[in-house]
Amino acid sequence: MPRVLAPVEVGLGESAALGPGLLTDRFGRVHRDLRISLTDKCNLRCTYCMPEQGMPWIARDKQLSVEEMARIAGIAVAHGVTEIRLTGGEPLLHRDVVDITRRLASLPGAPEVSMTTNGVHLVKLAGPLRDAGLTRLNISLDTVDRDRFRQLTRRDQFDAVLQGLDAADEAGFTGTKLNSVLLRGVNDDEAPALMEFAHGRGYEPRFIEQMPLDAGHTWSRDTMVTADEIFAALTDQHTLTPVPHRGAAPAQRWYVDGTSAMVGIIASVTRPFCGACDRIRLTSDGQLRNCLFQRGESDLRALVRAGGSDQDIAHALGVSIEQKLPGHGVNDPGFIQPERGMSAIGG
Ligand code: SAM
Ligand code: SF4
Repeated sequence: MPRVLAPVEVGLGESAALGPGLLTDRFGRVHRDLRISLTDKCNLRCTYCMPEQGMPWIARDKQLSVEEMARIAGIAVAHGVTEIRLTGGEPLLHRDVVDITRRLASLPGAPEVSMTTNGVHLVKLAGPLRDAGLTRLNISLDTVDRDRFRQLTRRDQFDAVLQGLDAADEAGFTGTKLNSVLLRGVNDDEAPALMEFAHGRGYEPRFIEQMPLDAGHTWSRDTMVTADEIFAALTDQHTLTPVPHRGAAPAQRWYVDGTSAMVGIIASVTRPFCGACDRIRLTSDGQLRNCLFQRGESDLRALVRAGGSDQDIAHALGVSIEQKLPGHGVNDPGFIQPERGMSAIGG
């Protein structure tokens, strides 16, 4: 009998009162944003994300098929999800990424389909993805220095990323965001340079506080570069004016030097924004997570493969959202890092 493993068991045939409240949790948060991890594999090894070796990869037979993924996403969209973000691991490594994008973008309800990528394979895929209906890109780049890139990602792919950025622009993507994680003593002097690089290309830079989600469990509060430090580094050379109306967005944003160019800081650890969270996550092996830091997962793959109806799957979605905690708890004394890292959960 398939089950939603945690926190509540749900079996086949259990009916639920489905309705407009399905995506609303006990704290009134409405979940509109579904992040789907296409794969846990990656062609880089960013030091803050994955160890060089020894990753326990998800077995092939446990990975969702394109049909299974599209079915779960379709049920979520039918109940009110409006945005789907494809992520990973590195989503461009999935051999069917263009097909998946097309299928999700053409779901009834027409969700917006965007992607977070390291950009290495955009050279060949930016055009096809745009044609398939991908609306926007978040591209991760932590340094504008080639040697540092190699140190930080353990791969010599800086030029491929730059070519990928060009390909994305040529394919017609707009509203591109450049995500950067700053590491103490490695690239923490680069906030202004990364911002200028992003603005020079018409992108919005966003700095993400390093979270305790590395697969090697080596995160330390002492080495994390805080939002306050990033803000200080930027305001040392620039004037930042707050952008009003943050909504459910994880980034706090500012206008730069009185222009319309913006910069964002995602202070997940020092200024959690869980109170407005609208995100749920589906891993590439079909586990639903209501929070990056959730300790349990809901096994939608088992439900689907045992012949679960759309209503069973919707019910499992509702149960997971219903059980979502008010906050991630990273700053609580008893916090325990989740078993799986960011690359397996989907960032
Ligand atoms: N491989 C793609 C990429 O790098 O954009 C998508 C997946 S990656 C896990 C998504 C985002 O999570 C990236 O911007 C990455 O920098 C960020 N990330 C990874 N590990 C992190 C951590 N421990 N703390 C904060 N951000 C992290
Ligand atoms: Fe790969 Fe993205 Fe993790 Fe870097 S941050 S190792 S690119 S999944």
